[in-house]
Amino acid sequence: MNNFKNLRGTVDLLPDQLIKWQNVEKIIIEQLIRSSVKEIRTPILEMTELFMRGIGEGTDVVSKEMYTFLDKGERSCALRPEGTASVARALIQNGISTKPFQKLWYMGPMFRYERPQAGRQRQFHQLGVEFVGYKSVRSDIEIITLAWDILEKLGIKELNLEINTLGNNVDRSNFQKAFVKWLEVNKNFLDLDSQKRINKNPLRILDTKNVQTKKVLDDAPRLFDFLSTESLERYLIIKEKLKLLKIPFIENKNLVRGLDYYTHTAFEITSGSLGSQATVCGGGRYDNLISQMGGTETPAIGFAIGLERIILLSGKELEESRDTDIYIVNKGIHAEILAMELSRKLRNYDLIVELDLSGTSFSKQFKKANKLKSKSIIVIGDDEALKNEFVIRLFNNEYSKNKEETISIKDNIKLEKWVQSNLLLDKNL
Ligand code: ATP
Ligand code: MG
Repeated sequence: MNNFKNLRGTVDLLPDQLIKWQNVEKIIIEQLIRSSVKEIRTPILEMTELFMRGIGEGTDVVSKEMYTFLDKGERSCALRPEGTASVARALIQNGISTKPFQKLWYMGPMFRYERPQAGRQRQFHQLGVEFVGYKSVRSDIEIITLAWDILEKLGIKELNLEINTLGNNVDRSNFQKAFVKWLEVNKNFLDLDSQKRINKNPLRILDTKNVQTKKVLDDAPRLFDFLSTESLERYLIIKEKLKLLKIPFIENKNLVRGLDYYTHTAFEITSGSLGSQATVCGGGRYDNLISQMGGTETPAIGFAIGLERIILLSGKELEESRDTDIYIVNKGIHAEILAMELSRKLRNYDLIVELDLSGTSFSKQFKKANKLKSKSIIVIGDDEALKNEFVIRLFNNEYSKNKEETISIKDNIKLEKWVQSNLLLDKNL
C-alpha cells in the first residue's frame, strides 16, 4: 500500500482548524469592506520572469526561495511567492494601472522554499493590501493604520510597529554608492552571505540577522544621512501624524525590507508573543514598481500580513463556531421526504439545520442531536408525516424550557412565528 504524505512545508487544514481560519478571514474582510478596499484575484501561477523583474533577481525570495518549473510548452513558470508583482501586472495588462485611487486586497496561498518551522511554511497564506495611484503622505498613514486596526480587531497582543524611510531614488543611489565603497573596504569582516550581496543587493545587507555583521555595520554610512530635505520632511510628517492618531511606533533605521522595489516608507509590525518568527506584517511604498514593469509611473503603497502567524497569535474565542439550531430526527418513508422539504424551508431563515440521513432508530438520532448541542429538535415519524405534521421541540435555552409544539407543514405562518420567537430572538435583539 502506498502511504502518501503531503510535501514538506505544506499543511492540511482540517475542519476544526478551519473554524478559526474562517473567523479570522471574516474579521479581516469586514474591516477591509468598511475601509472601502476592493478585492482582486490574480493567478497563483505566473511567468517566472514577472517575479525576477518585479521583486528583483538579487533577493532571497527570487534567487533561493522560488518554486519554478518548465511547463509542457517549455515556458518557465513560478508559483507566486508574493502578491504585489502580480497585482501590478494585472493592472498594467488590463489598462487600469493609471486609474487613480485604487484600494485593493487579495488573500491566498504563496509559495517559498524555506526551512519550515512554526510560523514558516513553504505554502503559506497572505492577506495583501495595495493602494495604487496614491502619493500623499496621508495614504502612507492610512495604510499603516489599516494594518494596525486589522491586527487589533483580531485581538493580537503586544503589537510593535517599526518604521523607516528609504528615501527617493536619488537618495538611495547616493547612499548605495557610498555604502558599497565602504563594504568593499570592510568585506572581510562580513559574513559570507553579506559578502555575496555587495554587488547584487547591498541594501539587503542592512537587514542581516548575523550578529557579527550587525556589529561591523554600526560604523557603516547611514542611509538616513543621505536623505534629501524633501524625503526627511515626508518622514517627519508621517511620524507626527502617527503620534496624533495614537499609533505607537519605533524607528528602526536598519529596516529595509527584502524586496527591491521599495521607496520612502517601510514598515513592519511584530508581535512580542511570537518568538523568532515575530513579523506578522511587512509593507512599504513602491513608487518604482509599476514603471519598472513597463507601466506608466504610478505611486503605490502596500502591506502583506502572514495568516499562519495570525492564527498562532489569535485567541481561543475565534475557535468557536455556530451551534446547530435544529436537528431533524426522521424515520419512515413518508417522514424522510417531509424532513427534506422542511430542512430546505428552515434554511431560508438562516438557521443551521442538520437533517439526519442515517435512517437509524429514533433513540440513536436523538443521541446525535444531543451531541451536536442542537438548540431544538424536530421529530417526524411516519404517523406525523401522513398527517403532514411535525413535532418541534425546543431545548433548555434562556427563553423557554422544553417547549413542544405540533405544526403542519402547510402552516407557514405558525412555523415562522415559532422560529421567530424561539430561535431568532438573539438576532432580533
Ligand atoms: P521573514 O523575515 O519572516 O521571512 P519576509 O520579510 O520574507 O518575512 P514578506 O515578504 O514581507 O516577509 O511577507 C509578509 C509577511 O508574510 C511576513 O511578515 C510573514 O508574516 C509572512 N510570511 C513570509 N514568509 C512566510 C513563510 N514562509 N511562512 C509563513 N508566513 C510567511
Ligand atoms: Mg522571508
